[in-house]
Order: sequence, then structure tokens, then C-alpha cells
Amino acid sequence: MKFYSTKTESVKASLEEAIFNSLPKDNGLYMPESFPKISEDFLADIENRSFKEIAVEVANTLFEGEITRSELENMIDTAYDFNAPVVQIAPDDYVLELFHGPSMAFKDFGARFMAAIMSYFLLRSDKKIKILVATSGDTGGAVAQGFYKVPGIDITILYPSGKVSDIQEKQLTTLGHNVTAIEVDGTFDDCQKLVKEAFLDDELKNKFNLASANSINIARLIPQSFYFFSAYAQLKNLGKPLVFSVPSGNFGNLSAGLLAYKMGLPVHHFIAATNLNNAVPRYLASGSYEPSPSIETISNAMDVGNPSNFVRLTRFFNDDWESVTKKIYGAYFDDDQTRKAMREARTNANYVMCPHTATAYLGLKEFREKVGGDFTGIFLSTAHPAKFIDLVEETLGEKIEIPQRLESLLDIEKVSIKMKADFLSFKNLLLSEL
Ligand SMILES: *Cc1c(COP(=O)(O)O)cnc(C)c1O
Repeated sequence: MKFYSTKTESVKASLEEAIFNSLPKDNGLYMPESFPKISEDFLADIENRSFKEIAVEVANTLFEGEITRSELENMIDTAYDFNAPVVQIAPDDYVLELFHGPSMAFKDFGARFMAAIMSYFLLRSDKKIKILVATSGDTGGAVAQGFYKVPGIDITILYPSGKVSDIQEKQLTTLGHNVTAIEVDGTFDDCQKLVKEAFLDDELKNKFNLASANSINIARLIPQSFYFFSAYAQLKNLGKPLVFSVPSGNFGNLSAGLLAYKMGLPVHHFIAATNLNNAVPRYLASGSYEPSPSIETISNAMDVGNPSNFVRLTRFFNDDWESVTKKIYGAYFDDDQTRKAMREARTNANYVMCPHTATAYLGLKEFREKVGGDFTGIFLSTAHPAKFIDLVEETLGEKIEIPQRLESLLDIEKVSIKMKADFLSFKNLLLSEL
């Protein structure tokens, strides 16, 4: 499969180039040149396949001729010792739990496959690479875990100081070895901008083989399509059209859903659910895209004012706004609504959810009220509620259980480098070899 740049269609890259360049030189984003269809036969009995079998089939459909099926099986076997179960919470409503991986957020699905495919390519060369990643909370933990001690790869994580939860911070600042955490005095957008600038800086590019592990990297996006297929497999026998509600920040998750759809997954509708960082719902309503500075909310991993995958989102529809609105419904919610939804789900369905998940729950509810129809609704649960334990306990007025894996982190001391949100400081830090 080849990839093109959203800025210049004639700029093409192989899979390996797209993964290691992360961004095309023209500052666009890589997009698949075509969308190979998953085989009809496979879809016909997908309900009998495991998560790993589905992942292998999707990956093989995309990478046929470039990576052998047995190599893909190895990668998927290494990457995933967890899966994505669907849990019913109302007669027609289900939650797709994506938090059963090591960092307990859905980003494990992308980060772990990415680590596997990068080390596959690196093992065939002597290259060493440096991965730069900006995190609004969960990417850092997933990437740190996914790449921890992977030979030939160094990780530098930038996160906004004071704007991630304690557990999230511990997940990125306590591993050490090939993982360095930089605590930026600024917002997630500032962190993201620093990473983008580093990729456009010739001196840094020449000194290091820089790669990105943000969802701008196609290697993270692609594996996130696996669980949309897996959700379909688990709910197919209900025989109703599927509506996916996706809690969104940078819109990598929703873009992965669109990739699955383009590959032939039957999806009736997607819901783009956000907090007050609502550039995409506003675009869906008006047709004009007006990013704005990010606003702090309780669903902090979605505090993104200018989502980096917006360009991809529209490109799936040839940038035609009307087509986008036929497939994607936009909705956004403030913190009070989000907290109320968390309490409602606890009372009505005995289900404890994190604030991000709650926005997707609300998006589905709004879609049922305003659009309606007979369908199976699935909202994605992007993180385990215990990752946001203070907020969840305060909102529900009760103690919740904290998995051992997270609890043991709290006693380890964090190690981070503090930095201003300024490109020169960042560059000097990198050049001084950290
Ligand atoms: C990253 C994240 C999101 C947003 O996902 P995008 O792919 O950036 O839209 C939502 N919820 C949680 C818990 C996250 O960590």
C-alpha cells in the first residue's frame, strides 16, 4: 500500500517511509492511496473470529505484498495480550471497552502495534530512531509502555504540566531507560506544536532519525481500525445497523473508524462526541472549520483546540462537507453534563465510566433523541475510570476500585525535565542529547 500527502497528492510514500517519516515534508498528513476491501467471506463469518484473527485479517488486507501474513501474526501476537469486549448497558446500547491494555487506555491498541511494526522494520536495518510524542495524558503512557526497552528506539514524551491526572503522569515519568519525559509549561496544543516544529527542523532531522508516535503517524491509526471490526463481530447477530459514538480529541480514533468503514465495515453512522473543544461539531453544523485555543475540561485527553486528524477526517469524504455530515453526527457537552452522565450511568446501569467515555455516552443519547431509528448503539470507552480516580470518586460520591497495576505506580517517584513552551529550549534540550 502506498500513501499520499494530503497537501500534495503527487507526494507518495511506502509503508515504511510513511511510518518513519511520520509527516510528509510538505506538512500534510499521509493517507492511504486506496482502501482495499475486507473480503466478503471473512465478513460473513466474522462473528466466529477472535480479536487477533480479525486484526490479522485487517492488517493483511492493508499490507498484502509488503509484510507476510505470518510476520503480521507475530506482530499482533506480541502487541495484544488483551482484547476489546463489548458490554451491554441498555436494551440497544453497548459500550466497547478499550481499556484492558497495560496503560488502561485505548491508545495501547495503536502504540503497541506501532512498536511491533517499527521494530520489524528496524531489525532489518541498523537504524536507530528517536520518537517524539506529545501527550494530552494517555498517549504518553501507552507509548512509554509499548516502546519500553525496544532496541534501537529512544522515546521523548512532552506533556502539559499540571494538566494530566496523577496516574497518567506516573505512567510516563516512572519507567526510565529509553523513556524521557518533558514537562512543558503550557497546553497540549503547545506540546503538539513543539513536536511538529521539530519535524520540520533540518538540523534535528539530520542529527536524529525522528519519528512521531502521535496519531498523525499512520502506524498508530491503522491498528485502531481493528476494534471497530471486532465490535461489529460481537454485535452482528443482533441484525441491526450499527452507530458508533466516539469520544474525540485529535480525531485519530474516529479516523480509524472511517478507515474501517472505507474497507467495507457496515456502519450506519458515526458520532463525533467532544467536550467544549468542539471545532469539529461546529464544522459539522456550519461547514466552516474554525479551530480555537484549547479549553481545559474534565475530559482532559480530549482538550484539543485544533485536532491534528481533521484533515484526514474530511479527506475520507474528498473534503465534501455534505458527504461528511451524512455519515458523521457531531455533538459536544460541558463538564456539568458530563458529570451528570457519569452519575446517570452509575445509577441506571451500574456502570462506572471515565469522563471521556461519558461524552460518547451522551453523544449516543442525543443521537437517539434527535435523529432516532432502530439501531444498535456502541459508544467507545477510551480509558479505565480509575485513571481519573479523584474526579470519578468526587463525581459519583463513592470510592471506586483501583486496579493493582495502577495503584502500584503511585508510590514510585516521578522523573521529568521541566521546560518552557518554546521551540529553542526544546531544540537545545534535544541537541544536548538529554
Ligand atoms: C486520546 C484520548 C481520547 C481522544 O482520542 P483521539 O483519537 O485523539 O480523538 C479520548 N479519550 C481518552 C481517554 C484518550 O486518552
